[in-house]
Amino acid sequence: MPIFYECDRCTACCRWPGQVKVTDPEITAISAELKLSEFDFIQSYTRIHSSKTSLALKDKGSGECVFLEDGNCVIQKVKPQQCRDFPNLWNFPGFEKVCRAKPVLLNNPEYRTKVHAATGRLLEPGRNNFEP
Ligand code: SF4
Ligand code: SF4
Repeated sequence: MPIFYECDRCTACCRWPGQVKVTDPEITAISAELKLSEFDFIQSYTRIHSSKTSLALKDKGSGECVFLEDGNCVIQKVKPQQCRDFPNLWNFPGFEKVCRAKPVLLNNPEYRTKVHAATGRLLEPGRNNFEP
């Protein structure tokens, strides 16, 4: 039975240092949400990802994401897939120590439904993880 992690919206994952990758379709969606041209959005809110193959969101210097304001994500509706996928479809050893998501044991169909609601991704029946 798979474990689904229910996000507590503690925003810790928006505050620790790291890189949030943004894809071309995400740049289009976020720019539209912010009513900015894609050029202006890229210039103001992105930096080169360390892989040098994509862009990532800027941070505030402290490591906190540039889009975290007053404990909320200002681009919640169009936040990048990387944000949606954590911690169910990617995480790291020991993430439970810094993420307050509540682990819930589910059967496979329930798990797929929850993952779809949280991430927008449709997992194939019989698979409990997403591989691009
Ligand atoms: S885009 Fe939103 S959800 Fe993603 S790290 Fe930034 S504030 Fe958090
Ligand atoms: S995924 Fe975890 S760290 Fe991020 S907001 Fe939800 S509970 Fe907090």
